[in-house]
Amino acid sequence: MARIIDAPLVADRACEPRRAAWGPLDAAARRGLSFTPDVKRETDALYEQVEHVIPPFEWPAYAPLIAAINRLKREKNAVILAHNYMTSEIFFCVGDFRGDSLQLAREAAACTADVIVQAGVHFMAETSKILAPDKKVLIPDLRAGCSLAASITGEDVRLIKARYPGVPVVTYVNTSAEVKAESDVTCTSSNAVQVCEWAAKEWGSDRVILIPDEFLAKNVAAMTNLKIIAWHGRCEVHERFTAEDVAELRAAHPGLVVLAHPECPPDVMAVADYAGSTAALAHYVEKRNPAKVVLLTECSMSDNVAAAAPQTDFIRPCNLCPHMKRITLEAIYDALVNMRHEVTIDEDVRVRAKRAIDRMLALPKQQTPLDFETGRAPAEVELV
Ligand code: SF4
Repeated sequence: MARIIDAPLVADRACEPRRAAWGPLDAAARRGLSFTPDVKRETDALYEQVEHVIPPFEWPAYAPLIAAINRLKREKNAVILAHNYMTSEIFFCVGDFRGDSLQLAREAAACTADVIVQAGVHFMAETSKILAPDKKVLIPDLRAGCSLAASITGEDVRLIKARYPGVPVVTYVNTSAEVKAESDVTCTSSNAVQVCEWAAKEWGSDRVILIPDEFLAKNVAAMTNLKIIAWHGRCEVHERFTAEDVAELRAAHPGLVVLAHPECPPDVMAVADYAGSTAALAHYVEKRNPAKVVLLTECSMSDNVAAAAPQTDFIRPCNLCPHMKRITLEAIYDALVNMRHEVTIDEDVRVRAKRAIDRMLALPKQQTPLDFETGRAPAEVELV
């Protein structure tokens, strides 16, 4: 079984008490749910998928909620889309579709359920609603936002377009529907280079506006000859990693393979062994089976990838996304019982945002997620 080894980088980021961050252990009891023999029978097989991260004495606190949520899904013809950054009891035990935001949006569009519960953050629920307008989309906690999505508004994009007429606007999917609606095409960290190069060709421009993540823009700029115009948004999880952290981790754990997400600063990418989207990082670990690895991304990702990589030890500096951690089993249960926190989008905004997403989805699908180059000097971008 994979080992998870906590490696807090500095005292104020320590993991403990990490599980307390996402819900009290009496949440099931407060909803009149208990760990009966039937619940144990229903959930025993699920526990096998999470036993590497959830100790046996905690399982009776989670299992009643898990069993109840799975029953509610059947009753209400609902599915749960679980992002890679969800805690393992959500990701493996109630998630019907699992993956990064693009994979989940595609599943939302294709599924036959009447109700979608987004176990992720608000912009992901909006993306599901954009692609699946006839379904009821619920977000279990309205406070589940995102520092990147909050960094820019539709009005900001209109001002940027006025300043750079004729330059295509490529927008990262980690944005609101309103921002997508003002954009020419969306991208993910898996396809950002491909989308920028396509947009430059289509618009006949040697420049591309790539918003809102400053670091993703700089990391993309290092892989293309295009001139990149960027915004100053940051992911509050990935921006905290430093090149010094990587040096400390390597010194403490000889033989460590360092994998970075492209929302990390360019100097972190420069010292990583490999970099790519969440899907690419999971793919790397599953295919190459490194003996010891650190994922420079959100904390729960290691727990979830570890289930498919029993030979690998995961060194885990615990950078939690506070927005993702708003989504708990009890919040999902309450959303399904009360059918609450429905996500709605103005139809004009939805149609324009969908056009930007559809352009991305129409591009040839890559067989494997894009690798970002590591070990090279950061590239310059023009910051708006
Ligand atoms: S991890 Fe970063 S990009 Fe993802 S939701 Fe949290 S703040 Fe936003």
